[in-house]
Amino acid sequence: MKVLLIGPHSRKEDAERSFMAPALGVIRLAGYLNAKGHEAEAFDPNLPMLTGAGESFEEALAKKEWDFIGFSVLEETLLKDFQNMYTARRQCPKATLIAGGIEAQFNYQTVLDKSPCEYVILSEGETALLDLVNGMPVHKIKGIVFKSNALPLSQELFNEATATINWEDNPYEEYWDYYLSKYNNKATAENIQEICTVRVFSRNRCPIGCKFCSSTNQITWGADAAVPVISATEDMLIHTIKRIMNAHPRVKTIYLTDDDFCINRRSVIRFCQKVVEEDFGDLSFMCFARASDLTDDMCAWMKKANFRRLNVGIESFSGKVLEEMNKRCDPVKNHAGLAMLKRHHIKAFTNIILTTPGTTLDDIQVTLDGAMQYVDDPNYHVGVTLAVKPLKGTEFNEQHCNFLSAVEPVEGTRYHIRRDDIVLCDDPQAREFQLRYWYTIDDAISEEIDRSDIRHAVASNLSLFKLRYAAFLVEEIRGRAGKPTALRDYQMLGLDEFGEKLEKMPYHERQTIDIPETTGGITHPSSSGGNKSVHGSF
Ligand code: SF4
Repeated sequence: MKVLLIGPHSRKEDAERSFMAPALGVIRLAGYLNAKGHEAEAFDPNLPMLTGAGESFEEALAKKEWDFIGFSVLEETLLKDFQNMYTARRQCPKATLIAGGIEAQFNYQTVLDKSPCEYVILSEGETALLDLVNGMPVHKIKGIVFKSNALPLSQELFNEATATINWEDNPYEEYWDYYLSKYNNKATAENIQEICTVRVFSRNRCPIGCKFCSSTNQITWGADAAVPVISATEDMLIHTIKRIMNAHPRVKTIYLTDDDFCINRRSVIRFCQKVVEEDFGDLSFMCFARASDLTDDMCAWMKKANFRRLNVGIESFSGKVLEEMNKRCDPVKNHAGLAMLKRHHIKAFTNIILTTPGTTLDDIQVTLDGAMQYVDDPNYHVGVTLAVKPLKGTEFNEQHCNFLSAVEPVEGTRYHIRRDDIVLCDDPQAREFQLRYWYTIDDAISEEIDRSDIRHAVASNLSLFKLRYAAFLVEEIRGRAGKPTALRDYQMLGLDEFGEKLEKMPYHERQTIDIPETTGGITHPSSSGGNKSVHGSF
């Protein structure tokens, strides 16, 4: 087999600053393959880059019809190595591309997801590379990682798989009884309706593409292809509901958990018409919706079908923030959708996310003001989330790196896992808001729960408190209270030394230097303490 092995490709300025030398890793591998009867060559792209002489990378690719092209990858050369891989893919479409080296081993998901390489060789590469080049079946090769893109379900397979859910054997009653026991026989009809719920889904993915959500990307990125939205038919949904009611007669609510059940207006109306025809008695329905998908005729039919609540992903009342999220909705539509639901006597659970990477205190204020219009109205529940969580598979995770993170041990092993809790704001004042909320909200809410005798602390009975607390922080940071940052809060954050210095600063300086910063980041205790804010999180 003809094998070309490429050394890590440094940036020119880095190569100029150091003493480059022949790439021994790929030279050794090429020597080993040649000794085993293959035709292998090593190529160092740094030398022609530095000297401007000799064979270029493109010429090396064109020299033979290579069967395999391997790339040695280091952390500092990753981007240029990726560019070389894409050049090789274009120039040598028939060659199998492979990566190895320290960065490829420890970051193989990035290599396999984002480069055209099909295999990553682990550790010393000689045996795995030889086995691969010799044609050994890949599942028998030791020390190799490969990714095989998923095959998305067709409509037929989706229907078949969905029909195989064994609704009859699911132990719903055990879950329901656990939550009912919290009420000590004092559960109201409303509590029972909320608890005795069965979740049903009918769609494979959401096509909207909000940057904080992975729903759009899971199946498409897994398949590395465009995947159509597939939905169960209305008849299938009705059949499923009948099975659930027969097997679990205590069920009071069917919760349609598709990320955006209302995206297809005609389908929703058809479903509601069938529910009305079937007459399921006091069975109620809940679902997710985007405000901009709601129409008056759809809401009227949903009311007739006994939809009692819609979970509406409002996220923000700031147009700028909604645009940053790629929510494809604006504040006017958010307000209009909520008003429409109230007109049709359908309750709305709205979720708001107070901060995104580009959020400022003004944006937070706009969203708090918007949310305050609904929080006292019994037709609405307002769930409050501090910030975007950089979930893997989301655009915010891909495009940002300033996260509040912590490291947690995997008990009983030598491993640790890094947990990214929130994306920090670019704006220093908004970032201070995030950190103060994150580190103080749990204690503040615990005190409130004790004071108010709240038994089951769901978002709906905590939201007013959260909004008021957030508004208090915004106001204090802005300095409306005449004292922008209270010393006691820095003491709570374990930042009392900074707080004391701050107290001595002139007032106008405090407005700009309100979070202790180190070069390139914020000093905060998250990663050392592993603290996780329950009420600051999703
Ligand atoms: S947040 Fe909702 S609308 Fe946006 S992509 Fe996710 S599921 Fe779709």
